[in-house]
Amino acid sequence: PDSFLSVRDLHVRFSTEDGVVKAVDGLSFDLERGKTLGIVGESGSGKSVTNLAVLGLHNPKSTEITGEITLDGETLTGAREKTLEKLRGNKMAMIFQDALAALSPYYTVGRQIAEPFIKHTGASKREGRQRAIEMLTKVGIPQPNLRVDDYPHQFSGGMRQRAMIAMALVCNPALLIADEPTTALDVTVQAQILDLLKDLQQEFGSAIILITHDLGVVANTADDLLVMYAGRAVERGSVKEILTQPQHPYTWGLLSSMPRLSSDVNEALNPIPGAPPSLLDPPTGCAFHPRCGFVDEVAGASCTGDRPSLALGRAAACHLNAEQKQTFFTEQIKPR
Ligand code: SF4
Ligand code: MG
Repeated sequence: PDSFLSVRDLHVRFSTEDGVVKAVDGLSFDLERGKTLGIVGESGSGKSVTNLAVLGLHNPKSTEITGEITLDGETLTGAREKTLEKLRGNKMAMIFQDALAALSPYYTVGRQIAEPFIKHTGASKREGRQRAIEMLTKVGIPQPNLRVDDYPHQFSGGMRQRAMIAMALVCNPALLIADEPTTALDVTVQAQILDLLKDLQQEFGSAIILITHDLGVVANTADDLLVMYAGRAVERGSVKEILTQPQHPYTWGLLSSMPRLSSDVNEALNPIPGAPPSLLDPPTGCAFHPRCGFVDEVAGASCTGDRPSLALGRAAACHLNAEQKQTFFTEQIKPR
């Protein structure tokens, strides 16, 4: 495949006491080197599950994964744990919402940043410490040669997030997965962290997957977007296309809860009625149909019976025709 990261027809199913949860249900996407893909959706839409599958972090006993994931030509699906171990923290790394959970309270920040570097490069402890200081400098921690010996509890929330980013980038990963990296932070620090990620991406050339429920987070950070609903991708396109010409009724709903996102879209719709469906027993046809205001507006296609497909490239998984997508969106969301 030409793309750096390629995901094809990914299915992730969990066995639970109540039955099989279809957490990801036929997902495909591509990511180029050095680009940022935003994956947007409500909680439970499958965005985190997808990325844990990329990293090979699901428990194989209770999880069934089918489809194909390749990173830089190497197939990750079905790869041995040993192979994935070599890639994690090295070629691909992850940052989470909660730095306190990701960092151990028992070791210094510097030691934790150095650890993957020592593990993957065979560097000495001294070199590891030097590298940790260098990374703390890059992520903007003041007095890095003193702070390197601090414990996580001695850092503020924003600084811990920076330390976690330092740890993720210490081996210069080609793929960085950031799952709600700024959700726990206040707005000012959020913006600083997103700026930092962008700067570091320039420097390291990493491809980034930015997972968020908040379109505002990806608006200035991502190149492309994938909108997920009920374990499926419902729309994909560039950030600009999706923010200014969204084609899926679910995306219209997401945008409407962000009224001041773009000057073109400055009037709020009502929030999307209803709640996401249970993935034990997802709706037939289009999974969004119980919440959609445009059900069966198209002759020849049944929203409740036929599942709309999503092509690669600019696309929306919706039976509405191109003209309807344009008209309904304009009527619904453009300033009146
Ligand atoms: Fe709504 Fe039908 Fe489009 Fe689904 S396929 S989003 S139910 S119009
Ligand atoms: Mg999540």
